[in-house]
Amino acid sequence: MPNQMKRQMKRFSTYLASLFCLVAGLASSLPASAQTPPTVEQFTLANGMTLIVKPDRRAPTAVHMLWLRVGSMDEVDGASGVAHVLEHLMFKGTPTIPAGEFSRRVAALGGRENAFTAKDYTGYYQQIPANRLEDVMMLEADRFAHNQWPDEEFKKEIEVVKEERRLRTEDSPRALMNEALNAAVFVASPYRRPIVGWMSDLQAMTPPTHVNFSCAGMCPPMRQWWWLVMWT
Ligand SMILES: [Zn+2]
Repeated sequence: MPNQMKRQMKRFSTYLASLFCLVAGLASSLPASAQTPPTVEQFTLANGMTLIVKPDRRAPTAVHMLWLRVGSMDEVDGASGVAHVLEHLMFKGTPTIPAGEFSRRVAALGGRENAFTAKDYTGYYQQIPANRLEDVMMLEADRFAHNQWPDEEFKKEIEVVKEERRLRTEDSPRALMNEALNAAVFVASPYRRPIVGWMSDLQAMTPPTHVNFSCAGMCPPMRQWWWLVMWT
């Protein structure tokens, strides 16, 4: 990891800590009445990160989301699908969290989680008991600062992604037609590439491709980060 990136990631963790204080403080000052219409609060942190807090007291749970203004339209020809592959790799662990452990810990907290990739954005979320919000914020901060994957994990995961393409696109005439239509209509636009990627690109993908993409598109400047927290 380049030094500049390390510094910025460290700064990101610091911001995350202050972010939690901010959210916790805001929640404690919110009106308790369920009749009061929720007030959506929006902040822009010094690093450019936007934070949105939407109170919702219908259930004692919180939804914690991280959105990035990066998606498949940021890819280049020959590496289609890389944003989505990177989304999968974000579950492959850090030096302190082994592969798969992120999901196990969220489940152990009584929560559920997932992620999604679109043409213009990528998102990660967890729904957890409200009093465990800090735990998932720490998990999310850790993987965005220290995500790593051994080549063996990459080789396994790229097969999962290929299977996802077969299941959702190649086995579906409607999806195949939509894919061909997009490729024909968006002649000179990055939207012509399928989010899951062309199979030939997935076949050719290697781990360094993803490292390069993650630093080109998903690393700082921090204004690319976007937090949304719904606090009950
Ligand atoms: Zn997927």
